[in-house]
Amino acid sequence: MLTLHRVTVRYGRFEALRGVDWSVGTGQATVTALLGPSGCGKSTLLRAVAGLEPVAAGSIAWDGQSIDDVAPHRRDFGVVFQDGQLFPGRTVRQNVAYGLARRGIRGAAARARVDEMLELVRLHDYGGRSPDALSGGQAQRVALARALAPRPRLLLLDEPLAAVDSQLREALAESIGEIVRAAGTPTVLVTHDHREAALMADTVSVMRAGTIVQTDAASRLWHRPVDEDTAEFLGARSIVDGIVGDGVLDTAVGQVRLTDESSFGTPPDGPCRVALRPEAVVATPDPEGPAVVEHAAALVASWRVRLRIADAVYEGVSSKPVRPGARVRLRLEAGGVAVIG
Ligand code: ADP
Ligand code: MG
Repeated sequence: MLTLHRVTVRYGRFEALRGVDWSVGTGQATVTALLGPSGCGKSTLLRAVAGLEPVAAGSIAWDGQSIDDVAPHRRDFGVVFQDGQLFPGRTVRQNVAYGLARRGIRGAAARARVDEMLELVRLHDYGGRSPDALSGGQAQRVALARALAPRPRLLLLDEPLAAVDSQLREALAESIGEIVRAAGTPTVLVTHDHREAALMADTVSVMRAGTIVQTDAASRLWHRPVDEDTAEFLGARSIVDGIVGDGVLDTAVGQVRLTDESSFGTPPDGPCRVALRPEAVVATPDPEGPAVVEHAAALVASWRVRLRIADAVYEGVSSKPVRPGARVRLRLEAGGVAVIG
């Protein structure tokens, strides 16, 4: 397993990583997402792990042994960057074979390994192509095959979907998740997109301003973010006061039973702050309802609404068309609710 102990990286006087403590468990093949806004230091952290960025203070270890003095190519980590960075003058096969010779894998064994990798990324008919004859998604799968071919002990992916068309991104996210699990390689995925993290990762570490603020199972993170900034980064649009008692959360918007212990844990009884994603606040037309619609926008199968109760404004959803000025009643839907802290 990978462990970082108080790792600091500086660019001149700017501290891009501020004493990061972090562990990535590699008991079985798992995908850990490193999730945070642009500029928070994700790539710097990945590059430090790969040995591509000098560490000013602290230490990085694998299975308890420091790798601080191990050269990048001897760390045995596979790396895929945003734009794949395939070698343009070589075929797809030659790209995938690139790391094998150094591992002493040559001739028939190398050819078999390349075939296996192209099969894994479902590009077996593309071996003879040049990289510039590939789509963005295909190029990223070749980069993934190249990184996995020498059987690295850890795979590092830095925003591998960033350069891919948005319609293809979700499918590629799923297929990358399947491929790394099939290869059995523990993987760190850097992303700024919480949906991508949810699609691909088992564990998510949230990063902000050069530090890691929370690490949790993906399913739990959404329901128990450590603080309001994290909740907002994960898609919450309204943050309200609440009170927990007997497993029921009470807010100005409504009540909800916190049944799913695996997601919510057991927040202590008493006052708390609650983060609501729009889908948590379900509006239904009702002339006697307490809330007034301020704004409504049609989505594919529902309406996104801005609602007002007295001085408070909430973002919500409605499955029926609603107009500004209409009155609605509200119901809380547990799936979009988070208890902060
Ligand atoms: P992320 O990958 O989360 O978007 P980065 O790790 O690329 O963030 O960058 C973290 C911070 O360090 C940013 O403020 C960025 O501007 C700065 N930075 C990154 N690389 C360099 C560099 N080579 N020289 C100076 N500053 C850098
Ligand atoms: Mg980056």
